[in-house]
Amino acid sequence: MIRKIDHIGIAVTSIGEVLPLYTEILGLPHLGTEEVPEQKVRVAMVKAGEVKIELLEALTPDSPIAKFIRERGEGIHHIALRTDDIRGALARLKAAGLRLIHEEPGTRGGEYAIAFIHPRSTRRVLIELCERS
Ligand code: ZN
Repeated sequence: MIRKIDHIGIAVTSIGEVLPLYTEILGLPHLGTEEVPEQKVRVAMVKAGEVKIELLEALTPDSPIAKFIRERGEGIHHIALRTDDIRGALARLKAAGLRLIHEEPGTRGGEYAIAFIHPRSTRRVLIELCERS
């Protein structure tokens, strides 16, 4: 059902300040930065072998990332697991009693489908499922 870790999401106050840590100091390639207005975030992707690191910066004070940083500070925000069948995975997790944030997967940039599992069901680890088309 789950194939591997796709990426690790990290909440930051400023991508501009944090990106050089990953690119210049750690030497990882920067895959690109984009704004995702529907999620109120700016996202920078860095490649660490097979796994990506997703730096998330809030676009607005009511962004979930702004709220996360206010409550818990900067740091690891979520782990994204790749699946070939996001709808099947969501149905199975729901049947197992997990609380879903998204019953229906959303899309990001039309490129891949994503859905989050509520951290109350997973011992405070926010898990994202993603399926690339
Ligand atoms: Zn993510």
